[in-house]
Amino acid sequence: MAAALTTISLPSLQKIASGKVRDLFSLPDPNALLFVASDRLSAFDVVMTNGIPNKGAILTLMSAYWFRVLSERIPSLRTHFISLDIPAGIPAEEASVVKNRSMQVRKLQVLKIEAIVRGYITGSAWKEYQAKGTVHGLAMPQGMRLAQKFPSAIYTPSTKAEAGAHDENIHPDDAWKEIGDKETAKKVEALALTIYKTAAAYAEERGIIIADTKFEFAKDAEGNIYLVDEVLTPDSSRFWRKDGYEVGKEPDSFDKQFVRNWLIKEGLKAKEGVTLPEDICVATGEKYKEAFYLLTGTKFEDAANN
Ligand code: ATP
Ligand code: MG
Repeated sequence: MAAALTTISLPSLQKIASGKVRDLFSLPDPNALLFVASDRLSAFDVVMTNGIPNKGAILTLMSAYWFRVLSERIPSLRTHFISLDIPAGIPAEEASVVKNRSMQVRKLQVLKIEAIVRGYITGSAWKEYQAKGTVHGLAMPQGMRLAQKFPSAIYTPSTKAEAGAHDENIHPDDAWKEIGDKETAKKVEALALTIYKTAAAYAEERGIIIADTKFEFAKDAEGNIYLVDEVLTPDSSRFWRKDGYEVGKEPDSFDKQFVRNWLIKEGLKAKEGVTLPEDICVATGEKYKEAFYLLTGTKFEDAANN
C-alpha cells in the first residue's frame, strides 16, 4: 500500500493553522492562502494515528470539481477557490508534497457555524427524531423511517466547536447567535439549501444520493458571503449509492461511515490514538476513489496525473 501523508512539511512557507485534516499556509499574496489536505482521517472528532493514502488529493480534486460545477450552475455564488496551481517558486520537494492535495484559496474570516443540510434522515438526526420526533428542534412528520427522504431538504446547523470539543446541533433560528447577525444567518441558510439542492440533483444523475452534507461560509470586508473549506466530499457528506437504496435500511455509504462502523464495532468510538487496520484503510481509500469516479466521471488516478 502507498504510504499516507499525515504530516505536511513545507519549510519554505509559514504554517498559519492546522485542523484535523488540513494545514493552512500563508502565500506571498496576503489575501490568499495555500489550503493543503493531508491524508489524516478524523472520525467522531478524533484523528486516527494513520491515514488513508491519497485521501488528501481525492478531497482536494473533488472539492475543486464541485467549485466549478456549482459556480456554473449558481452564477451568483462566490467561493474561496482560486486555483489548483502549485505556488510559484517553492522548492521541487515541497511541490511534490502539495501536488494535487493543495489549492490556493482566498483567505477569509470563516463564520462560526457548520452549515449542515439534510435531505435524508440518518445519523444524529435519526437519533433525535426517534427520541423526540424533532430534528435540531424542528418538528418532523410522524412515522418517518431510517434513511427516509425529508419532504424537502432541511437546514440543520451546528456550532463550530474549538479543537477538542464537539459541535452541538442547534435550531436554525439560533444560528444567528453564532454567526453574529440575523441578516447574514438568513443568507447562509438560503445559500446552503440552494447549494445542497443543486449538488444533490447533480449527484443523483450520477447514481449518488447526498444524504447530508456540511458547508462552511465566510464573509469578506464588504459583507459578501463565500462558500469556503472543502465541499461535498466523502469527509463532509454522507454519500449513498442510489442503487440498492431502501427506506428503513442503513444504506452502504462511500464515506467515513465505514470507518465509524468499524470503530463502534471495536468499542473504539471517540478513543484517542486509534490505528486503523490496513484492510480498513485500503477499503476506505477505494470507497473515496469510487465516489470520485462516479461523481466526476474521471478516474482519480487520471485526474491526479493532469
Ligand atoms: P476545525 O479546524 O475547525 O476543527 P477541521 O478539523 O475540519 O475543523 P480542517 O478541515 O482540517 O479543519 O481544516 C480546515 C480549516 O480551515 C477549518 O478550520 C476551516 O474553517 C478553515 N478554512 C476553510 N476555508 C478557509 C478560508 N478560505 N480562509 C480561512 N480559513 C479557512
Ligand atoms: Mg474540515
